Amino acid sequence: MSNKKSASLTTRIVIGMAAGIILGFILQMLMPNKSDFVIPLYIFDLSLRGLLVDGIFQVGGKVFVASLQMLVVPLVFVSLICGTCSLKDTSKLGRIGGKAIGLYLITTAIAISFAMFLALLVNPGEGVNMVANTTFESREAPSLAQVIIQMFPSNPFAAFANGNMLQVIVFALLFGIAIALSGKPGERIASLFEDLSTVIMRLVTILMNLAPYGVFCLLAGLFTDVSIETFGNLIQYFLVVFFALVLHATITYPVLLKLLTGLNPLIFLRKMRNTAIFAFSTSSSNATLPITMATTTKKMGVKNSIASFTVPLGATINMDGTAIMQGVATVFIAQVFNVDLTLTDYLLVILTATLASIGTAGVPGVGLIMLAMVLNQVGLPVEGIGLIIGVDRLLDMTRTAVNVTGDSMVTIIVGKSEKQFDEDVFYDMDAGQEQEEADSKVS
Ligand code: ASP
Repeated sequence: MSNKKSASLTTRIVIGMAAGIILGFILQMLMPNKSDFVIPLYIFDLSLRGLLVDGIFQVGGKVFVASLQMLVVPLVFVSLICGTCSLKDTSKLGRIGGKAIGLYLITTAIAISFAMFLALLVNPGEGVNMVANTTFESREAPSLAQVIIQMFPSNPFAAFANGNMLQVIVFALLFGIAIALSGKPGERIASLFEDLSTVIMRLVTILMNLAPYGVFCLLAGLFTDVSIETFGNLIQYFLVVFFALVLHATITYPVLLKLLTGLNPLIFLRKMRNTAIFAFSTSSSNATLPITMATTTKKMGVKNSIASFTVPLGATINMDGTAIMQGVATVFIAQVFNVDLTLTDYLLVILTATLASIGTAGVPGVGLIMLAMVLNQVGLPVEGIGLIIGVDRLLDMTRTAVNVTGDSMVTIIVGKSEKQFDEDVFYDMDAGQEQEEADSKVS
C-alpha cells in the first residue's frame, strides 16, 4: 500500500520532468519569438509565450527553488548540531572529517583524470575552428591560507544571512561540541535541537510533494530557450562530457561502493533517482541538499550523526561532475587553440581542479568560474570558455546530478565504516516512503 503511494511520487516527478522538457521544446517550435501568439485584450496585448515562460514557469520554478534554498541554512545548522552532540566522543569528529574530506578529494581527482583520459581518446577539439564571441571574466584562485581563514565566521549571523556553508558548518560543529560538553544545560538544548530537526525534516518531505510541479516549471521554462543550433560544432564536446558523467555515475561510483562497503550498488542508484532529478532540475547541489539529506538518512540508512556532517560538506566541497566537465573542457580548449599540454600540465589541472572545488558553493554555473582558474594555471586562454558556454546549461544540470550522487556515496562509505549505518534500511525499498505518503496528504 505504502509502496504504491510512494512509487507514485517518483513517478509524478519523472512525469513532471518529461512533460516540462516536451512542452518546452513544443513551445520553442511553435513560438520561437517572444512576441508570438499575442492575445489582444482590451487594455494590453498579452503574449502567450510571455504569460507561460516569464509568468507561470518562471514564478513556479523560482518559488520551488527558493523554498528548497530556504531550508538549507536551518537544516545544516540544526542537523549538524544534533549530529555533533550525539557523537559523544568528540575526537571522532576529526576522524570522520578526515575520511570524508579524503574521499571527496580522491573521487574528484579520479573524476577529472578519467575525464581527461576520455577526452584525449576522442579528441573533441580537433578540427573545430571557432572564434570566441563571448568574453568571460576570470577569477583568482583563493590561496589555501585564505580558504582556511574564511572558514571561521567572525559573525555567525552574517554567515547564516549570506548562506556561507563552510562558515555555518564550522560554527555548528563548535556549538555542537560545546553543547556536548555542557552537562545538564547542554542536554536540554540538545533535545530542543532534536525536536527542531524533526520538524525541519518534516518540512523537507512536505516540500518534496511540490517537486513534480516545480520540476515541470523549471524544465519547461528552460527548454523553451535551449537553442539546438548551438550544439553544431560542440556536439563532440557535449557528448564526451555527457558520457564521462554517465560512466562516472554508473561505473566508478558503483565499483567504489561495492569495493569499500560490499553494498549492492544497484539499490544505491535506484534510491538516488529522486535526488538526481532534483539536482538535474535545479542545477544546484546546495538547493538539493535537503533532499540529499532526507535520502541518505531515511532511505539509505546512514545515521544523522554522519550525514548531517558529510552531506553539507560534500555539497560545498565535492564536485566530481564539475571536475569532469573541467577536465574535458581543458583538453577541448587546448585542442581548439592548438596548445600542446605536457604531462606536468595535466597533473597541474588535476591538482588545481581538485583544490578549486573546495570553498566553491554548489550553485548553477559555478563550474565555469572554476574552469577559468584551471585554464589560468596552465596558460590556456580564458576566452575559451566563451566557446562552450552555449551548451553549458544542460551539462550543468547533468553534472549537478553526479555531484550529489558522489556526496551520497561518500556519506554511505563513511557511515558504514563508522558503524553509523543501518543496512536493513538500505535494503528496504520502502524505507523513508511512509512519511512522504503522509506528507502528500498534508500538502
Ligand atoms: N551546479 C553545480 C552544483 O551545484 C556546480 C557547477 O558545476 O556549476 O553542484
